Formats: sequence, C-alpha cells, structure tokens
Amino acid sequence: MAPQSPTEGRDSPGSSASEKKRKNNNGSSSSKKRAYGEASGLPNGAKSHVVRRSSISKPGRDQRDEPVFKHKKRKRRDDRDRDSGNATTSVSRQDSPAIDFDGLSRPSVGTRQRLEETEEEKAARLDRMKGAVKTLLECVGEDPNREGLLATPERYAKAMMFFTQGYEQNVFDIVNGAIFQEGHSEMVVVKNIDVFSLCEHHLVPFTGKVHIGYIPNNAVIGISKLPRIADMFSRRLQIQERLTKDIANAIFDVLRPQGVAVVIESSHLCMVMRGVQKTSSTTITSCMLGCFERREKTRNEFLSLINVNRH
Ligand SMILES: [Zn+2]
Repeated sequence: MAPQSPTEGRDSPGSSASEKKRKNNNGSSSSKKRAYGEASGLPNGAKSHVVRRSSISKPGRDQRDEPVFKHKKRKRRDDRDRDSGNATTSVSRQDSPAIDFDGLSRPSVGTRQRLEETEEEKAARLDRMKGAVKTLLECVGEDPNREGLLATPERYAKAMMFFTQGYEQNVFDIVNGAIFQEGHSEMVVVKNIDVFSLCEHHLVPFTGKVHIGYIPNNAVIGISKLPRIADMFSRRLQIQERLTKDIANAIFDVLRPQGVAVVIESSHLCMVMRGVQKTSSTTITSCMLGCFERREKTRNEFLSLINVNRH
C-alpha cells in the first residue's frame, strides 16, 4: 500500500546513523529527507501532519488538514454534496478520519460482506469453511470420519473466524470517543502488549509483543485503547511489517499526536516449524512517525523505555 517512510524498519538506535548515511546516498530518499528537514525546523503540531502524510498513499480525510491538500478537500466536499440524501452520517464520516472504515480499517469487499451478513449467510459461510477443512484433512491423508476429527472442521472454521475477527472491527468503534483534551505533551508508552496474528503467506501464527509510544499534541487517548487497536489489526491476515504500520498510522490518524512509535518483536511459526527452523529468532519491526522519526533523542528515549536492546 503506502510508500515506506525512509526510517521505517529501523531496528535499533545503533543502526540509525548508518541508515541515514545509506539513505543519503540514495537519490529519492535524500530528496524526501530534505522535505522532512524543512518541516522539522518548525514547531510541532500542525506541521507534523505534513511530514506524516508523505508516508501514506491516501489523502488526509480531516478537514483540519494542511492547505497542501486543498484540492483533495474540495473533492471530498463535492462527494458530500452528492450524498446529501444521507447528510448527517456522511458529514460525520468526513469530519473525522477515525470514522472512515476504508481508510482506517481497510476491509475488502469480502470482509464487508462478512460484517453485514444475516444469520443464514453466516451459517452458509461456516458450512463452506467446514467443507474446505474436511478437504484439507483428506488431502493430508487423514480420515475426516474418525471420531477425533468429526467435529474438527466446525471447530476450525469457528476458530478461523475468531482469529480474523479484526476484519469486523474499526478504529472508530474501538476508540469510541475516548480522546481527552488534557494539555499533556509528554511521552506515553504502553509496552509488552501481547499480539497473536496469522502470517498471510502460510496461515500459521506469529506471536509477539507490541510496544507503543506517542507524544500527545494536547489530546490523549484512553490508555486501554492502544492494546485494542493492536489487537484489531493483529486479528487479520498480516505480515509483521504491515501490522506495525497499521497500528502506528491508525493512532496517528485518530489522535493527531506529535509523534507515534511502534515496535513489534515476534516469533513466526512459519520460520520455527518449517523453512529455516530457527526456534529462537525474533523479528523486530518498527514504525516511527512525526517527532519520533525526526528526533533521534526522542526515538532513543522510547527505545530505552521499552528496553528493546536488552539482549
Ligand atoms: Zn509465514
């Protein structure tokens, strides 16, 4: 989806200097870097939107966005006029990026059908899944009719729906208005959030810990919402890199903080049980937005608070 921001994927503060050096040798990244440099000289707040906007493909949906995106805002207003039959919901959806299902939760056509289906359709879906699991059992050489396996297709179908229940959730419902104007502007860190996700390449689990930090721009989010946002995106088919970005982008969109930092450390069963069979390896991904991306000091403070370099 989005073009990667130049510092995404940084594993540790130690790598940042060499990372910068490498980026400077690269034409496209260095021009991007200049743009960041310009913005970083300015006070935080509004400008941080601009910096961050360059890291995602979709235009900002918030009316308060910078004038740079004016033409896109105008287009959205036109859309809204066209929708005037449904004015109230349409307006509120446009007013906050948090309410935009497609922007923040990215369900596909199939997941939207899943969310909106009737009881009968739900039952039909489970039946199809059961049939597929029975086929799988046959294909591995098992007898799906032996006692131990009789209820397995149904159990697995239900479990799979649970593992992917994040497709039925969206950030707006999760946040549910829990954003408070506290005038707070110090770093907030929630670390060691357990996540359980499914690797989209092998449909086997990867599990790990998410560490989230942000620096508010006056507004703070109810602290329990951060693990719930992590949970929502992890209960989908994922790759760790995208999961990291999904969480960071959602928090940034919903809260407009000075910066957001997300680090995930996890172990992938597709690596442990098959392939290279490295049982103790940990994969670390990070996504730094706003002031975490611009200021090494801020980034290092976060990394030392989450103690990610303890090994
Ligand atoms: Zn995998």
